[in-house]
Amino acid sequence: MEKIGFIGLGNMGRPLAERLLKKYQLYVYDLEEENLNFFVSHGAIKCLSPSEIASNTDKVFLCLPTSSIVEKVINGDKGIFKTAKQNSFIIDMTTGEPEITRELSKNLLLRDINFIDAPVSGGPKGARLGNIAIMIGGTEKQFSIIKPIMDDISSNIFYAGEIGSGHAIKAGNNLLNLICRMATFEVISMLVKDGVDPEKAVNIIQKSSGRNYATEITLPDNILSGKMFQGFSTGLMKKDSGVALQIANSNTIDMPLGKLAQKLLNETIEEFGIDADMSKVAISYEDKTGVKIRP
Ligand code: NAD
Repeated sequence: MEKIGFIGLGNMGRPLAERLLKKYQLYVYDLEEENLNFFVSHGAIKCLSPSEIASNTDKVFLCLPTSSIVEKVINGDKGIFKTAKQNSFIIDMTTGEPEITRELSKNLLLRDINFIDAPVSGGPKGARLGNIAIMIGGTEKQFSIIKPIMDDISSNIFYAGEIGSGHAIKAGNNLLNLICRMATFEVISMLVKDGVDPEKAVNIIQKSSGRNYATEITLPDNILSGKMFQGFSTGLMKKDSGVALQIANSNTIDMPLGKLAQKLLNETIEEFGIDADMSKVAISYEDKTGVKIRP
């Protein structure tokens, strides 16, 4: 069995790593013991540091909160850099910052270590179903080497372009998701206030020209079902939309809708904190409009 390393087994990392459990000998590392226990009970080998992972495997997956944590896991004490093998791969599935990613890749290549960005979109559900979108940044050669393993995770693997392209597209995607989500809550609140049933409104719009991820998944699965859990935090969404706005800033492109969507997200964060689930945005809308969207 080929050996694969996986660091970061949270909401998103866990279902991604679970896809690999079936075919590979997994070596796992996370700060939370609880997250490791599941994998150990399914045959994975627990490591005590990122460097221990890198000394045992030549392909290490990362799914960590931010690029600055990725930097620490690679370059810090007991980091991957200490023990990584020549020609090995680090596959960064974090929703990261393209600038940091390009810098990391440049430095790691000096030691013949491949670092590629491979962020994902489709949430834990998409990972479990094996159809999550994975957008890969790196050279075409790096992509062709890593593609067979990525195919074991999902049927939706895309070559995004040179290093950092995956992270740039992912940041843009999440800002767009946030804008559409806020616009959808705004419109559904207006319709409910006008006496319309929210479920009917969402079902009809989903088959009409206003459809988007919020009408397809967020509202039906997480809000109208009463589940009120998406498995994605407000803090991570703030980070992602912030990365997109930062890319806009460095390219001197104004993003009025993006800035407004982030301002509205900040209102939810002020009310519920950065660890709150993104479904709390619905409650912020209900508080603001006095209209109940949930059942
Ligand atoms: P999470 O907070 O649920 O999980 C992060 C995991 O990383 C935790 O288990 C934590 O213990 C671990 N960790 C943190 N610092 C560490 C370190 N120094 N060493 C080892 N482990 C460490 O977050 P998540 O939702 O799984 O998100 C992970 C990444 O995936 C983020 O970049 C996020 O933006 C992205 N993402 C998440 C979703 C989603 O729906 N949750 C969807 C797409 C992309």
